[in-house]
Amino acid sequence: MSLEKEMDLAQAAVRVAIQICQGVRSALSPSDTVTKSDASPVTVADFAAQAAINTCLHRAFPLDPIVGEEDSADLRAPGGAELLDRISRAIQPFLPELDTEAIIEAIDRGGHGGGPEGRFWTLDPIDGTKGYIRGEQYAVALALIENGEVQLGVLGCPAMPASDGTAGCIFSAARGQGSWATPLQGEAQAIRVQDLDGFERANFCESVESGHSAHGASKDIAERLGITAPPLRIDSQCKYGAVARGEATLYLRLPRDDRYREKIWDHAAGVILVEEAGGCVSDVNGKPLDFSRGQKLEDNRGVIVSNGALHERVLSVVGEVLS
Ligand code: AMP
Ligand code: MG
Repeated sequence: MSLEKEMDLAQAAVRVAIQICQGVRSALSPSDTVTKSDASPVTVADFAAQAAINTCLHRAFPLDPIVGEEDSADLRAPGGAELLDRISRAIQPFLPELDTEAIIEAIDRGGHGGGPEGRFWTLDPIDGTKGYIRGEQYAVALALIENGEVQLGVLGCPAMPASDGTAGCIFSAARGQGSWATPLQGEAQAIRVQDLDGFERANFCESVESGHSAHGASKDIAERLGITAPPLRIDSQCKYGAVARGEATLYLRLPRDDRYREKIWDHAAGVILVEEAGGCVSDVNGKPLDFSRGQKLEDNRGVIVSNGALHERVLSVVGEVLS
């Protein structure tokens, strides 16, 4: 399966979303952010980016369902009209034909439930919203899943340095076709994970937010493995990009509690990026991430990402520390 049209469209859509996000961020005010029912923040740019990408996807592949992080409930609630107006202004330069009704419709096109059959897209319009608001790392994450398997992923990382030293990097991968990193203005280059089979020169990355991954446990794991480098703390799926291009050996995402289940849009694009770059991804028990269970990774706990060669040794120490 070549997926050439899907890849071109996904990259073009992510580029539009990046421009929207960077534009909003350059003048971000407190009223651009609202707090969702789960207490996490969402901004004008999350909604605008989801509306833009869903519109691009729907025009090119009208039959493909989309599993997106956002929905329009907050925009229909009291105070939503002003938010909708800001979203509309953020989208205007790129998709001037979208009125507010079309924007709401586009956002809600992301309401599919996922599952084991057929193909669908999954989108996190801004992964790492807390990093986005802090002015640090975030990612626009889009992936195509077919019969439960990730087939294609595009990760737009506007604040990650590219290989040519400029800011902004778009990572992309398709099954069997390798992983690539493209500067925002520049040529794609193939990327590979670190070629390392010991821990002396190894390093790891993890969430900035200690509520998303247990920092104490990762410190313990790193010490037992003999990793001396300090953790690289990065928001969003940029961490998968860091492993895929050999900047970090490992990415540890260690559950804080037994109830939380990871969302498919927080991992799908990153997983194929690392796998196609020669790395390995599993949960903390060594199980592959199962994207066929709906919107969440119901059967998985935490996430362990490595360069492949070190995976088994990392898992055994993760098991010791978490047990
Ligand atoms: P990161 O930037 O890697 O910390 O991940 C950001 C993502 O963490 C968000 O998109 C959320 O969906 C997700 N998240 C929220 N709460 C938790 C939690 N308790 N454990 C793990 N991930 C979470
Ligand atoms: Mg996210």
